[in-house]
Amino acid sequence: MTITRLDALMREQEAMASTSRTEIEAMQLRKLNVLLKKEHNRQGFYRSLPESLRSLDELSTLPFTTAEDLTKHGSGLLLLSQSAVERVITERTSGTTGNAKRLFYTAGDLERTIQFFAAGLGELIFPGSVTMICFPFSGPNGLGDLIAEAIQRLGAKSLRVGVGNSYAELAEILEQERPDTFVGMPVPLLSLLRVCGRGSLRRALVSGDACPEAVLRCIEDLLGSKLFPHYGSREMALGGAVTCLAHDGMHLRENHVIAEIVSPDGSPLPEGEWGELVITTIGMEAMPLIRYRTGDRARILPGDCPCGSAIRRLEIRSRLDATEFLDLENAVFSLPWVADYRAAWRADGLHLEVLTCGDPEALPNLAAAWSFRPVRPEDRPLIRGKRGIT
Ligand SMILES: [Zn+2]
Repeated sequence: MTITRLDALMREQEAMASTSRTEIEAMQLRKLNVLLKKEHNRQGFYRSLPESLRSLDELSTLPFTTAEDLTKHGSGLLLLSQSAVERVITERTSGTTGNAKRLFYTAGDLERTIQFFAAGLGELIFPGSVTMICFPFSGPNGLGDLIAEAIQRLGAKSLRVGVGNSYAELAEILEQERPDTFVGMPVPLLSLLRVCGRGSLRRALVSGDACPEAVLRCIEDLLGSKLFPHYGSREMALGGAVTCLAHDGMHLRENHVIAEIVSPDGSPLPEGEWGELVITTIGMEAMPLIRYRTGDRARILPGDCPCGSAIRRLEIRSRLDATEFLDLENAVFSLPWVADYRAAWRADGLHLEVLTCGDPEALPNLAAAWSFRPVRPEDRPLIRGKRGIT
């Protein structure tokens, strides 16, 4: 099997002779120490950290950065002057503090994310192919735009579909534009395949939300090919880890992110064990984070990938606090007649509102009240962003 495009990109971006484990780790330590030196000179939020480390193992001795730190000290975490910032994402947080989490990117941060997207998407998108992008198009340098730019660089065509379309609109896109590739969130893809059929679609990259095992399996059955899951977050400039042709975990963008897995008490866990993903974004220019607790449940797969790459592979399950919801997603989407559903807590317990694309039968044993309605062409997704119980 050929080595991944991500290996080639990492060699090019970091001027590395090879992407062996030794060379990757030497590159990471070098970039980490450059970052620590800058933070020391800046005397901002990270002023108490050492100026350099002797080994990557020593990283686990540094304190964590939390989501609360981001909310409280936003500009204190900015490594450059405001004038170097190309884009700011403001994320309203729940709770009563009224504070918002702000994330800053330079033009360089965004450019390197486009290059990473092009490397990941290049495993499944070819010159001349047509991709429907089902992520929000929230303006210049938003997620949709960055993906469209990466696809254009691959010599392929993209359709700026966005999110929240009706099934009738999606069916028309499938018929008129004949896309072969889907890029978007997993549940909307399953819903599209069940209601509209796969049409010309043959391949898909999914990201932006947890992909429950049953959803993955059902999509692969309907699509007739293996999925390419991707993982990213705003804290890492949207691109973080992507699946190769071996489909055995997601290769981490290791010249951008150092990943650690920690137990609930914060101690490091060995490869293979599930815990919380902690990231150090050594590749970020505007707002690098050191040991940021993501709240995502993950593990690092031991050993080299069957594709031959030594780049570490990540498996992500869900948010740490959402394992029960994941069980619900698995149980409900295992039912082939479910087009979409929404779960809500009411005074008398959990209620499931289900759009059906077949006759409901054999309900799983769930402590929930169900209501059904056949899906109509004008229906739109019941949930537009990340899924959860409302
Ligand atoms: Zn691989």
